[in-house]
Order: sequence, then structure tokens, then C-alpha cells
Amino acid sequence: MADLDYEGFWKETLIQLRNDLGEEEFSGWFSDMKYLRARFDEKTGENSIVIGIPSAFHRDKVKSRYQNEIILKLQKLSGTEINLELEIIGKKAEKKETSLPQPAKNTESAAEKTQKPKEKREKHPQMRDDYTFERFIIGENNNYAANAAKAISKNPGKAYNPFLIYGGVGLGKTHLMQAIGNFVHENSDHRVICITSETFLNEYIEDVRQGKMREFRNKYRKIDVLLIDDIQFLTDKPGVQDELFHTFNELQNQKKQLVFTCDRPIEDLKKFEERLISRFGLGTKADLQPPRYEERCAILKSVTQTRGVSLPDDVIDLLGKNIASNVRDLISALNNLINYAELMGKEITIEIAQKHLKNIFNAPRQANLSMDNIIRVASEYFGLTPNDLKGKKRSQNIVFARQLAMFIGREMTDNSMTEIGQDFGGRDHTTVIHSIDKIKGKLLTDPTLESTIENIKRAIKDYGAKH
Ligand code: ADP
Ligand code: MG
Repeated sequence: MADLDYEGFWKETLIQLRNDLGEEEFSGWFSDMKYLRARFDEKTGENSIVIGIPSAFHRDKVKSRYQNEIILKLQKLSGTEINLELEIIGKKAEKKETSLPQPAKNTESAAEKTQKPKEKREKHPQMRDDYTFERFIIGENNNYAANAAKAISKNPGKAYNPFLIYGGVGLGKTHLMQAIGNFVHENSDHRVICITSETFLNEYIEDVRQGKMREFRNKYRKIDVLLIDDIQFLTDKPGVQDELFHTFNELQNQKKQLVFTCDRPIEDLKKFEERLISRFGLGTKADLQPPRYEERCAILKSVTQTRGVSLPDDVIDLLGKNIASNVRDLISALNNLINYAELMGKEITIEIAQKHLKNIFNAPRQANLSMDNIIRVASEYFGLTPNDLKGKKRSQNIVFARQLAMFIGREMTDNSMTEIGQDFGGRDHTTVIHSIDKIKGKLLTDPTLESTIENIKRAIKDYGAKH
């Protein structure tokens, strides 16, 4: 296979695809792809080219929409059969170099260590890898907090210490705090711990019970960066507050970085140790305000871009104008709309978006759309039990109900395919993709299926509103 110019075939295929599809569609799917290598499988005697692609979402889409076409083109060009393998490489690495500020010339700074990277560190197990500065849209509502967070990430322990981020629900506190942690973790050897107050409390209780306070202290006092989320949760828990106070002092004496989030101004915390509150008072406090219209639109555009979808401006405008409560609601409405359109095979038009928004506003407030509830209602609809859907039985009616419940689960929640697989008895995400594809196929041929789905969804919302 060494004689053939596989990369050349790939380039030519791209040129042809651009001609066939037009610039807009082409660049939506293909501009971030990268030729990686050719591969020859000795066992099967098959040739493949391996192409890097930014996300699993892109991969699934390209596979279902364009794979056959690509393989045909490759075959015509090369005169032989070439398989296509898509490997997820992400966009992050490239982005970082261009959009992050250069590290300061300070031997002690965390960013300095980027210049002589050893091996790339594994992802940090306690943080979401998409909670980064690149993904955090900065506007008037949050620029003080975001800029302080960036400064901290480049020089942990040096400026703004302790740092407290506060503000209402869904405004980006956790995202911003983890962006600090992710940046430090990726660009230095610093040890980072990132936990919720609840976990901190539970570990504390457990270690006290087992007489393991030494281990507890070793763990929390020998680190470089401590991030604790939602400290309001520690209200009225004097034991753990006392422990936190000592941890706090110890780390601060060693010039280690502390970052906390809280859902209200620190002074409003009731039943909180005075000395702890005054410690927080010594550092920097930054609040997050709800985003204004411009920021809401910027966030919507950024999310659609990462999902590889393009939305008409009037749809962005509609969502941006109507969902003003907080970023979480905004993103979740958008994700729901995209999932809906994608599952139903529809383009997102202003009409569809309006209808969808109406559903959101008419939905019973705070309906509990957990996967458990979805499985419960869907199984009942088909006269089955939740265990039938989670279990291994393969009779036709159960398989269909299971596939449909997965489809609805994908539509009504933000859960990933992997999470849905977990909820359905620990199945693999490929099974979920396959199930959803099955239902998509049936939607094309069975005119009554759409209304069945609507009925089940309504029942789920009703149930969720009461439970
Ligand atoms: P909080 O901890 O304040 O309740 P989160 O950090 O969980 O809020 O944010 C809720 C959602 O909104 C997350 O998906 C987060 O990524 C997103 N988000 C919040 N603020 C921003 C922002 N400024 N830019 C982009 N996404 C944001
Ligand atoms: Mg949070």
C-alpha cells in the first residue's frame, strides 16, 4: 500500500465534496478534519485511511450522512477499495495555542511550564474537560470574575487568594472554577483537588468515623490548588466548617490557591463560623450576573458551533430574547431544540423554534425529567416494567419500547449517549446510537409514530410535574 498516495486521494475527495455540497455545508463538517495516516490490516487484507475529526457528534454525523459517498469517491480515485476510519482528535489543542494569552515570564508561574511540556497529563478525574476558558463566553456580566480567574490560573497562589465566585444558579460558577483547575492541571505539575462541598463533608464524616483524620489532612493540605464548589452547603455543619478553617489556614500559609463558589454573597450565609467568613473576606470576591441579550446570543452561537450545527440568525434571536433566566436554561433549551430537530430529521426553522419555545414555557414548572421517570412512564405506556427496559430481554415489543424510550430520553434530556446507555442497564453508547437510528428509520415509514412519541412525552411531563 505504500505506493499509493492516500493523502492525495483524501485531498482530492475533499475538493470533490466541496463542489458537490457547497461551501456552507462542506465547511460545517469537513473543515476541521485532518488526514492522519493510512493503515493496512494484514488479517483482512483491507486498506483504510484514518481521518481525525473534532468530536463524536461530528463522527456520527459524517458516518451516517457522508461515509458511503466518501468511500465511493476514494474507490474511483484509487481504483481500489479504501475504508474510512474516523478518529476523534478534538479541536482543543489547536485552539489553545491561538486563543490563550502567552505565559508570563515568571519562573514560578504555572503557564511557564507549558513551554517544556513533558507528557500531556491525563484528564483530571474531578473536572469536566469542557469547562474551559475557551468555552466560557465573557461579557459585561462576568468579565471581572473571568479575568480574575484567568489571572489565577496563570499564577495560582500569587494573586487573588482566596478567590470566591458567587451568584445565582446556572450562571457559570462551576464552569469558571473548573476552568481554573483545568488550565492549571493542563499547564503545570501542580496538584489540583476539585470537589463539591457535599463530597468534602461526606469524606470528612467518613474519615472521622474511621479515625482516619491524618489521611484526610494529608490529602487536603498537601496540594497546590483547592477548588470547593457550593460552600453554602456547609451551612449549619460546625465540625466540617472547623476542619475547613484549618485546611484554609494551612494552605494559605503555604501560598497555595483556594477557590470557592457560593450561591449568595458570603455575608448572607447564616450559621457559618464568623472566622471562616472573615477569612473569605480577605481575598477577592467576584459575582456572576445573568447574561444580557448580547451575551446570550454569543453563548448560543458558541454552543451551536461546538455541536457542529448552524442556526439561522432569527432562531438565535428568538431564543436569546426569550430565555433570560440563566445560562443553564438557555443552553438546555438550545440543546433540546437541536436534539428534537435532529431526531425528527427536520431543519431548524423559526416556526419549529417558536413551537418548541411554546412547549418549554407551557411545560409544568420544574417537571422532573430524570431518566428514571422517562423509563418508568415509557414502560408503563407499553404495559411493561422499568426492568424490562433496562434488562436483557429481546422480544420484539420490549426491544421496540426500549429503543423508543432511549430516543425520547435523548430528546428530553441533555444526557450523552454514554449516560443514556448507563441508565438503560449499563449498555454501550453504540447500542444507544443504533436504537435511536432504528426509531429515526421507523419515523420515516410509520406515520403514527410521531404522535405516539408526543403522547409519551406529554405523560412524562405530567408525571415529572408531580414527582
Ligand atoms: P452554576 O455553577 O453557577 O450553577 P454552571 O457553571 O453549572 O452554573 O453553568 C451552567 C451551564 O451554563 C454549564 O453548561 C456552563 O458550561 C454554561 N455556562 C455558564 N456560563 C457560561 C458562559 N459565560 N459561557 C459559556 N457557557 C456558560
Ligand atoms: Mg454549580
